[in-house]
Amino acid sequence: MAARLKPSVAVVGGGWAGLTAALALAEAGHPVSLHESARQLGGRARSVDWHGVAIDNGQHLMAGAYSETLALMERLDTLDRIERRQLEFHGPGFCLALPRLPAPLHLAAGLLAARGLGLADKLAAVRFMQALRRRRFQLPADDTAAELLAWHRQPARLVERLWQPICVAALNTPLHLASAQVFCNVLRDSLAGPRAASDLLFNRADLGRLLPDAAAERIRTLGGEVRLASRVTGLAREPGGLRLLGPDNLAERVILACHPARVPELLANLPETRALGSRLHDLDWQPIATLWLRFAAPLALPYPMVALGAADAPWAFERNDLAAGLAAVVASAEGPHLALQPEALRDRWLDDLAGRLGALPTLLDWKLIVEKRATFACTPDLWRPDNRTDLPDLYLAGDYTRGDYPATLEGAVRSGLQCARLIIRET
Ligand SMILES: Cc1cc2nc3c(=O)[nH]c(=O)nc-3n(C[C@H](O)[C@H](O)[C@H](O)COP(=O)(O)OP(=O)(O)OC[C@H]3O[C@@H](n4cnc5c(N)ncnc54)[C@H](O)[C@@H]3O)c2cc1C
Repeated sequence: MAARLKPSVAVVGGGWAGLTAALALAEAGHPVSLHESARQLGGRARSVDWHGVAIDNGQHLMAGAYSETLALMERLDTLDRIERRQLEFHGPGFCLALPRLPAPLHLAAGLLAARGLGLADKLAAVRFMQALRRRRFQLPADDTAAELLAWHRQPARLVERLWQPICVAALNTPLHLASAQVFCNVLRDSLAGPRAASDLLFNRADLGRLLPDAAAERIRTLGGEVRLASRVTGLAREPGGLRLLGPDNLAERVILACHPARVPELLANLPETRALGSRLHDLDWQPIATLWLRFAAPLALPYPMVALGAADAPWAFERNDLAAGLAAVVASAEGPHLALQPEALRDRWLDDLAGRLGALPTLLDWKLIVEKRATFACTPDLWRPDNRTDLPDLYLAGDYTRGDYPATLEGAVRSGLQCARLIIRET
């Protein structure tokens, strides 16, 4: 008797979530087709051509806690494209470096030795982490991260120099709007995790080469299809499954792995999903701005990433791996900087950079990229949809689906894996 073929799966969206899902399904023997509307893969974590140099649409940072992303990159043989460093925070008048000690000693020792904090700040930080650890980082009710820190009497200097930068960078949401519970999840899995979880991972290749290119190649090798410039305009119910309007492809299962702002229009023909579509409409967004700077010589940063100020100030990254003299300045979340003209923002951040490093090499070129809907606003008690929908053959993947993490690469990869596992288990 012929073995029953595994159901075909169409994945809509070639960001890190869609690619992860498609790859896991192809590996499990499902006929897979991935449809990406752009001419390139990667979505919000993609490469951009800048006068022949591949830069990133936005400077990204990963952490040792990104276990699923790292496992996937290991399978794709791209781990050598990131540089792993022990965590250090360098800000004006502030430096925290976690020593190579077993957890949780590394954190306590790092905090106590930090430069730029008083003894009262350091003890308050240790007490805060201990209090969260006792509760297993689970809050009785969600609040804003600002309220959580106030409740634990965290001194203003400590908040400005440590907690606020971590929160804004990880959740891409200002402290007074950010979810305290998701902030706790981030602390649990990074600073309070095993020592290696707090390591910072610096990209040493453009984003396309970290994962999307290798994932697409593997999918194709396994017999799957990866179609670029293939915009799906809607879904229609048919006896054999769901038809993708646009590419005109019929699939037995569909994973929508596009930006959540794009999902409602794709659901318009499926009345069972009306409630889902309207809830997705209600999500709020936060931007990220990245200023790419090309200098005549490399910048002398004390560490690959330095803060240009306290609180929600931007961070500077050296990216000599992409081209000698290349650097990125990145500001997470909304803020008054976005009201400035690009030239004014460039000049302000160049002044900040010179304030930190002294005289800068000659600036040869610059480019500002603002992603207006970089991530969902990670606010308290935020509703996030399941990977499963009310339709048994329709799934959602993406950094915004239900999970512990804010909108991150790791969240996207986990959601893609979760969708693939549901389909593999159920078919
Ligand atoms: C500037 C910036 C900086 C960031 N920094 C970090 C960081 O430092 N660390 C971190 O972990 N995360 C960071 N993030 C977040 C991270 O990039 C995202 O969480 C992740 O890339 C989301 O992946 P995704 O697959 O869920 O969605 P997306 O990347 O949005 O992928 C969706 C894909 O679907 C495609 N698509 C949309 N509509 C259709 C359609 N109708 N038909 C076919 N295809 C369609 C899109 O073109 C896109 O390629 C950053 C994001 C930005 C924008």
